[in-house]
Amino acid sequence: MRAVIFPRPNEFILAEVPEPIAGPGQVVVRVKSTTICASDIKIYQGKFPGVTYPHIPGHEWGGEIAEVGSDVTNFRPGDKVGVEVHIGCGSCPRCLEGLYNLCENYGNIESGHAHIGFTVPGGLAEYCAIPARAAHRLPEGLGFDDGAFTDSVGIALWAIERAGGVGAGESVAIVGPGTFGLLSVQIARACGARQVLVLGTKNDSGRLALAAELGADQIININEVDYGPQLVRDLTDGRGADLVVEFAGTPEGARLAVESARRGGRVVLGGSTSPGKRLDVDLSTIVRGHLNVYGSVANPRGISQRANSLMQSGLVDIQPLISHHLPLSEFARAWEIFCNRQDEVIRVMIHP
Ligand SMILES: [Zn+2]
Ligand SMILES: [Zn+2]
Repeated sequence: MRAVIFPRPNEFILAEVPEPIAGPGQVVVRVKSTTICASDIKIYQGKFPGVTYPHIPGHEWGGEIAEVGSDVTNFRPGDKVGVEVHIGCGSCPRCLEGLYNLCENYGNIESGHAHIGFTVPGGLAEYCAIPARAAHRLPEGLGFDDGAFTDSVGIALWAIERAGGVGAGESVAIVGPGTFGLLSVQIARACGARQVLVLGTKNDSGRLALAAELGADQIININEVDYGPQLVRDLTDGRGADLVVEFAGTPEGARLAVESARRGGRVVLGGSTSPGKRLDVDLSTIVRGHLNVYGSVANPRGISQRANSLMQSGLVDIQPLISHHLPLSEFARAWEIFCNRQDEVIRVMIHP
């Protein structure tokens, strides 16, 4: 089969490799839709802890079951599935809490842990073997592109739920109008937010416009105003947002998020998933502001099914987030478009 391979950091090839077979507890999926994301760039650059090379990337994908392992009873060839990226060992203290995104056996394949497209081969390939637990049957009406967003919608949903969800009538500010920010806009609306504000930079003008189309009441280009958080306050009766969700992935974005919350508000930081970034915030903003500040990574226990339900009901529409569709044979072009943010790219959907 054809697969994208990172033989070593800072290099990729498209090559012929053996097809995987379904081991115990596994299914082999014929991959139909895979997106690339900023985490793939970190893996490519050798900056994602736990990844070994050569590596087949691809962690946001959907497809059709091609083969099931001998002991797998809940799937059949032909079933359409979206893939959940984190599978925990199932027996460490965090997994026993259902938080298998925080599994203490991260990267230990013998323990049963798998981070698909990170510690085990991913879906930038024609076929991929995954633990059956990672596969989520797509409900009626959803296609493979939706399946490629099962995990991503789950990430945005979990981040918001980490911070207590959205109370009906609350104001929500979202920092960073990339894929996860744009999903957060839709989820905040679905949860009953009264007001959704989105903050981005001058490089985000197309994405900010899309945020408005997807339900944001106000968009703020922080490069065009004196101080973004002040404008958030001005637009929320002088208070600041009840909930702030950060998916910018930068220290500046995280600082703006903390400074945009109302007194006693909640802030969830979800963008900076790799090490090496530091938050520069006046601590009194958090202490005197009585803020609840949460970190959120990936998504655990049962989120994927609800993520699929949000897409099935139309409360979350992922199609506007897919700016490009390309075949696997054009991976090099897809990679160039995505890495250089050409052509108003948001997500490039690759079809192996
Ligand atoms: Zn990703
Ligand atoms: Zn575990």
